[in-house]
Amino acid sequence: MQTEVRKEHMTVAIAEIAEKHKVSPGEIFAVLEELGVDHDGSQFEADADTLELIEAGIEEHRGAKEIVLRPGPTPLDVANALGVSQPEIQKTLMMKMRVMATLTTTLKDEVAEQLVDQFGYKLRWAQPKQTGPKTAPKKEQQGAQVRPPVVTIMGHVDHGKTSLLDHIREANVVSKEHGGITQHIGAYQVELKEGKITFLDTPGHAAFTAMRARGAQITDIVVLVVAADDGIMPQTKEAIAHVKASGVPMIVAVNKIDKPDANPDKVISQLPEQEVIPEAFGGQTIVCNVSAHTGEGVPHLLEMILLQAEMLELRADPKGDFEGVVIEAKLERGRGPVATVLVENGTLNIGDPIVVGKTWGRIKAMTDHTGDRLKSAGPSTPVEVLGLSDVPEAGDTVAIADNERAARTLAEDRATTARAKSLETGSRGLSLSDLRQRLAAGETKDLNLVVKADVQGSVEAVKGLIEKIENEEVTVKVIHSGVGNILESDILLASTADAICVGFNVKAEPGAKKEAERAKVEIRTYTIIYELIEDIEKAVKGMLEPKFEESHLGTVEIRQVFKLSRKGIIAGCHVTEGKITRNANVRLHRDKEIVFTGKVGTLKHVKEDVREITEGFDCGVTLEGFVAYREGDVIEAFEMVQVNA
Ligand code: GDP
Repeated sequence: MQTEVRKEHMTVAIAEIAEKHKVSPGEIFAVLEELGVDHDGSQFEADADTLELIEAGIEEHRGAKEIVLRPGPTPLDVANALGVSQPEIQKTLMMKMRVMATLTTTLKDEVAEQLVDQFGYKLRWAQPKQTGPKTAPKKEQQGAQVRPPVVTIMGHVDHGKTSLLDHIREANVVSKEHGGITQHIGAYQVELKEGKITFLDTPGHAAFTAMRARGAQITDIVVLVVAADDGIMPQTKEAIAHVKASGVPMIVAVNKIDKPDANPDKVISQLPEQEVIPEAFGGQTIVCNVSAHTGEGVPHLLEMILLQAEMLELRADPKGDFEGVVIEAKLERGRGPVATVLVENGTLNIGDPIVVGKTWGRIKAMTDHTGDRLKSAGPSTPVEVLGLSDVPEAGDTVAIADNERAARTLAEDRATTARAKSLETGSRGLSLSDLRQRLAAGETKDLNLVVKADVQGSVEAVKGLIEKIENEEVTVKVIHSGVGNILESDILLASTADAICVGFNVKAEPGAKKEAERAKVEIRTYTIIYELIEDIEKAVKGMLEPKFEESHLGTVEIRQVFKLSRKGIIAGCHVTEGKITRNANVRLHRDKEIVFTGKVGTLKHVKEDVREITEGFDCGVTLEGFVAYREGDVIEAFEMVQVNA
């Protein structure tokens, strides 16, 4: 093992010790956690005695199939901990769990647990770090540096989101080259004495949730604006639901305190009803009183954002692998495709060949929000980029390629895969029948619902009845409810929270229908409340006992039996009615008796394996676990269909 001797302490590489003991790095984390030895994910420091203890611990821990991770892991962290390749992790997330996430997206706890479970391990969470670690903390952890927080502003219409963004921009951003005029590129960064903050310039939860639905969680902190003269309104509630579903911390800004009829205390007292508990009431949520007009309280709000950011320990490595996300993109006359990229990790440089979603290019020019031309941009910096071959979509990831040709090939591959994927069922939405399968696989314990109804009274009635549905294994949870038709934003929320959208006496808007189709979110609308409740009850109960019924496929006659030396015995058949499929169940009838019941083993047409053969065609059939075919036998093919889906 390569060690660097420093007095009696040495630096031990986790990968090497894992390799030596033939365990995964995550299992080493578990032992280090138990012994209270600090590590940075790739190495730790220990003296000879401690190392001996650790090695003994590894042997003791062997077979426990348990790894330890710190809260908020990314797919990359999970890959490293399990010692599996990054593509394998991404494949499992996307194909098996239907979760869209980049390698550095922070995973929800339960998603991380399920992901680890997919590889046959249990996930235990590391305890929060204690003060006074046993080994000296390293100042520079792999060159990672504190990065500015990325903030999104949300709230009800007219509560002052735009005014607050404008005020912060005007008070804190000075354009050097453009006579004080800042550029609207979709985001801007302010520089304060205490640090920098990046604000996303599209207020509201639609953009926030759309990005999340695409797997791009770029917001670190949400500022929820509530007007002091108006209080909590429907879109405030909606924003709270979206933020809660995302797990992003929230700061409440009570705005318009300059107005004579402002009543900030009333707003604060309304928050607990929404399960947002202000610090003043012993909760965790920071509340600031501000005026976007006079600027009062705004510096304090910015300080609080930085404080919250400090607690989040946001880090990125300007020298690390590049990662970025598109926050806005458009086609501009004379400039071509223009995209605003938020750098998440690493550094973006002029001349870099990049792959952005399904498009690609070489960076010709970069400008920041002040209109300044940049040669390079580091973590949390939003930059407008020129040089792409096509307009990407908001939420697309940005990667640097080795060269332009590689960028182009990768982009084209992605476009092909995307087309193929759109033909598959894939996506992350949920339907009542999916739920059963997920539950059976131990993947979910919650049935999340978004409820929309015609009037507040029916919203309450539906919610009340839903909350009464009880089941030991499934928790039914209304994550958001409101009055009015089902909107696109409802679907976006449902898709990020794996929820089903139910409507009572309302319909889905066309945009919502389209989005639901894309994201595979199930919409169910009802006009009779009892039917709505019954369906949900059925789903919850039915999940536990799927019911199948036999459905006839076709009849096949054995015309000849072939004995092939290598491949065994094959029945040469003719489909006399209906069809037979590769996955069919079968009954073999001889005279008036059933000689065998089982499944199709192989199905061939001429020499090719095929999925199905229809009436009038010949085929070669083998059955699983049966070889005594006879000429004149009749194979009845059927499938089992779930009837309570
Ligand atoms: P948004 O819809 O949330 O983006 O709200 P706007 O920023 O467009 O503000 C809505 C209205 O409220 C505008 O007429 C603003 O001038 C006004 N407004 C916003 N903030 C304040 C404030 O702090 N004090 C007062 N008096 N008016 C405000």
